Amino acid sequence: MTAKPQRTARLPDGTEVPVLGQGTWHMGERGSDRRAEADALRLGLDLGMTLIDTAEMYADGGAEEVVRDAVAGRREEAFIVSKVYPQNASRARMARSCDASLRRMGVETIDLYLLHWRGGVPLAETVEAFGRLVEAGKIRRWGVSNLDLDDLEELGAALPDCATDQVLYNLEARGPEYDLLPFCRDHGMPVMAYSPVGQGGRLLRNAALRDVAARHGTGPAAIALAFTLRQEGIIAIPKAAASDHVRQNAAARDIVLTEEDLRALDAAFPPPRRKQALAML
Ligand code: NDP
Repeated sequence: MTAKPQRTARLPDGTEVPVLGQGTWHMGERGSDRRAEADALRLGLDLGMTLIDTAEMYADGGAEEVVRDAVAGRREEAFIVSKVYPQNASRARMARSCDASLRRMGVETIDLYLLHWRGGVPLAETVEAFGRLVEAGKIRRWGVSNLDLDDLEELGAALPDCATDQVLYNLEARGPEYDLLPFCRDHGMPVMAYSPVGQGGRLLRNAALRDVAARHGTGPAAIALAFTLRQEGIIAIPKAAASDHVRQNAAARDIVLTEEDLRALDAAFPPPRRKQALAML
């Protein structure tokens, strides 16, 4: 199967990555589901969703093992993002965490390694530890997750090297539109939208969203994804273990929302009118 050329986002170092990737939270939790989960990720790869997001946290490393099965024999196609726990994001501990992630995924390098959220380790120390892993060739670049504007500003001179901020962003969580998305856009840093379909919950039952979906002959998740992807510099990483979900998500890239659609979505999910603290799951 040949994947169509996809819209991409440009990382600060010039690397282009697809704007639609795949998440893996809750994969690897049950041994009996692992094969189907890896198959779903491989179907996503076939469909051009080649950015795969995982973390040492997910299923205690089990999700990284699912990623190993998914990319076996096709490592070069995938752009792998993993995340280090805040308590491991130190000079003393990060290398060990990274080695364990590499081993579980059966790869020699992680394309993008993120600080999962901010903990007690000073950001400057985490950045230094990331730098050592880049020099050692164990990661290609680094970024952050769940960092609000003030934390990003604290990165200071290191900010231009930060490849992304992965944050909660979907129709129900539009706070980042007020300040975080414009800030990142101004700094040439794509934002990675996590839980873009609201974890498959209440969001997908919303009547206005379902109306828009019906107009486009698709499901609500595809419209939720098209909504996050309507702007430049956003990468969405829906997690889907069901193959029909994977296919529907892939099709979201071709949806162009009309003014009427956007008005209906704004009415149901009003955009922020003032600063909101960054929400996180
Ligand atoms: P998502 O918004 O991606 O929702 C996933 C859920 O939605 C699953 O139950 C999935 O079902 C369902 N779903 C997916 N596609 C469809 C569809 N087309 N129609 C109906 N239902 C659908 O939530 P996540 O929280 O998983 O976020 C995505 C990824 O972001 C995570 O997997 C993880 O990689 C990352 N993340 C990062 C965080 C961080 O702190 N940095 C926090 C949270 C997430 P099924 O699996 O059965 O197909």
